[in-house]
Amino acid sequence: MDTESPPLPAEAPMAEVLALHARLPTLDTHVDIPWPATPDPRGETVRQVDFPKMAAGGLKAVVFIAYTPQGPRTPEGHAAAGQRAEAMLRTIRGTVPGSGNRRLVATAEALERAHAEGAFAVLLGVENGNAMGHDLSRLALWKGLGACYLTITHDGHNDLADAARPKPELGDGPALHGGLSALGRQAVGEMNRLGLMVDVSHIARTSFFHAVEASRAPVVATHACCAALRPHPRNLDDEQLDALRDTKGLIQVTAVPAFLRAPDADGKYRASVADMADHVEHAVKRIGLEHVGLSSDFDGGGGVEGWRHAGETAGLTAELVRRGFDEAALELLWSGNFRRVWRAAEAVAAEGG
Ligand SMILES: [Zn+2]
Repeated sequence: MDTESPPLPAEAPMAEVLALHARLPTLDTHVDIPWPATPDPRGETVRQVDFPKMAAGGLKAVVFIAYTPQGPRTPEGHAAAGQRAEAMLRTIRGTVPGSGNRRLVATAEALERAHAEGAFAVLLGVENGNAMGHDLSRLALWKGLGACYLTITHDGHNDLADAARPKPELGDGPALHGGLSALGRQAVGEMNRLGLMVDVSHIARTSFFHAVEASRAPVVATHACCAALRPHPRNLDDEQLDALRDTKGLIQVTAVPAFLRAPDADGKYRASVADMADHVEHAVKRIGLEHVGLSSDFDGGGGVEGWRHAGETAGLTAELVRRGFDEAALELLWSGNFRRVWRAAEAVAAEGG
């Protein structure tokens, strides 16, 4: 962050925006990978995020996700999900080495160092606590492989918590536990002990408040938007935003059109970086700049006009500059706030969880 720089005028020429963007420690906190056929991100691919696109678009860091869809909550289902999550983490780790200034990053300090040294950083996350089954030791395994957060559920209830979007095809009713289960509370405690951040995206509103209350470290919604602007089960309402502010947590506004806007008359979802900026402005106004960040959900349904892939990352910065965010604010939105929450989770772990 260069706090000496005067703020750019809202109508700054693109060259100045690009120069500013090149200085920013940009981090995208939620990017899926195709599975099981995963094109190698070291080359140009059809993926929305690969290393050539990151370099072209000035995206310096990314959290790649080991995602498992919710399946049957049986020993066999849990075993299969656990194997898949671990295989995905190992696959992501395997594609980081090679030519190019890239490194795997598993601590907030390492991310800061990567930003300072101009290196591209790959972070890891696990999406869907279903992949641990009832085995809390899986959390330490994932942390050991470099994961920085776990998303407690995906769509569909699991044995840890109720999800915001149940899966009737799996027999889900509106609620299963009424929020976080006893196992879910144990998992949150173990995440705190390990320094693994608690991702509250995807969980039901009941589960959200249970997780915020149970976690001794601030929680983060790594990919969600604001229900005040777009009522949607995956979005957070103002009371949820307030709870994040009150517990030093974070919402990473995401580039999923259906979370940003109602569908057009033809039923299709269309959104742009302007819609993303609207959600960012709402959250900042409601709970403060320190509690808001940015994510794409690329290769998992994300992508908006102006930021369709990692190669267009400056498009979002340009829109935020137009809205009056200066370099110090952009540093916080793009990476600083997430590093703060990560450090807080690490501090809780260092104190003995
Ligand atoms: Zn997701």
